[in-house]
Amino acid sequence: MRTVARLQPFRSTIFAEMSALAARTGAVNLGQGFPDSDGPQGMLDAAQKAIASGLNQYPPGDGLPELRRAVSDQVRREYSLEYDPDGDVLITVGASEGIAAAVLGLVEPGREVILIEPFYDSYAAAVALAGARRRVVPLVEQTTQDGVVRYVLDPDLLRAAVTPQTAAIIVNSPHNPTGTVLSAADLNLVADLCREHDLIAITDEVYEYLLFDGRVQHPIAALPGMRERTVRISSAAKTFNVTGWKVGWITAPRDLVDACRAAKQWLTYTGATPLQAAVAHALDVEREWLRTVPVALQGARDLLTTALVEVGFDVHPSEGTYFVCADARPLGFTDAATLCLEMPAAVGVAAVPVSALADDEDRWAPIVRFAFSKRPEVIREGARRLHALRR
Ligand code: PMP
Ligand code: GLN
Repeated sequence: MRTVARLQPFRSTIFAEMSALAARTGAVNLGQGFPDSDGPQGMLDAAQKAIASGLNQYPPGDGLPELRRAVSDQVRREYSLEYDPDGDVLITVGASEGIAAAVLGLVEPGREVILIEPFYDSYAAAVALAGARRRVVPLVEQTTQDGVVRYVLDPDLLRAAVTPQTAAIIVNSPHNPTGTVLSAADLNLVADLCREHDLIAITDEVYEYLLFDGRVQHPIAALPGMRERTVRISSAAKTFNVTGWKVGWITAPRDLVDACRAAKQWLTYTGATPLQAAVAHALDVEREWLRTVPVALQGARDLLTTALVEVGFDVHPSEGTYFVCADARPLGFTDAATLCLEMPAAVGVAAVPVSALADDEDRWAPIVRFAFSKRPEVIREGARRLHALRR
């Protein structure tokens, strides 16, 4: 094994693994979260135009000025948050690089970062790259008055995770993989802890537009006293159906952006210039897309949710993102990791076991994540095949 010790615990990402398995077996890929249709045509045209017009050399280190301005305008328009395009905005190679840069630039080796479980796999790897340690707090189930089971933060567990070594907490809402949108109480709890213990909140808001049933995004940075201690991260990937473009951004006060840049400039220096120009166009102009994309996705969520219930899964309602989680125990499966390895060949559908996104694998063992960011006919075909799981 030539890999350094701190990266050895991280195998290849489960998303790539499951997509490769789906490709090998010809399975319907409801595993890795990416859409199977293109984003707004005007944005695709803008990318081609940018290349044709010679926008093909390095942009400035912080990113193309017009994209920084478009991001600054977007957060003002949506959330009344003010970030100076010259200093408070940093364009990154996807949200992934933004997360890594924030942790590398802001967390000393040996300090701790709180992650909420299940967590997007790159968080744990970023913490390990920084030589820091993760403290993991699970989401817990809560039954609402109308009998719906939701995932929420347990205030006692979260408080107990804070130690004198804690430097930051990474919060992702809407949440991959559970599809949970954190409640106002949960967001306030995080903010209280950050203020009390002088922690940095790193907020991963890549699904900021993908909310259902009339929900709207509430950034932690907008809560009292939080702007100065929050690194807010988003990306064009999910908003504009361009997961392969890897255009992301950080908005934060200047001192925090300086720290993120200190790491980012040595990782990639800059990302693809023409794609940054196209995303600037999309943020400025494609407002209609922003309204329609969650509506279409909500329809896809309903289609897949109904199908999973029919098959016999115990489905956790999805409030946002590309994903819905389902408990496979009613179908007789207690280990989703095994089920997800076998399902592509046996049934012709790929999905992701939530235990791959957790330290406490037992807690999440029976839960399968399905992606519904697919065309309706693909979801219908996946659903048809899943009926083979019925007992
Ligand atoms: N955070 C979360 C929660 C994600 O699901 C993803 C996957 N797209 C990312 C970050 C990475 O985003 P990007 O592709 O922009 O790097
Ligand atoms: N964010 C996507 C998911 O959760 C995939 C990202 C990746 O493949 N690294 O499925």
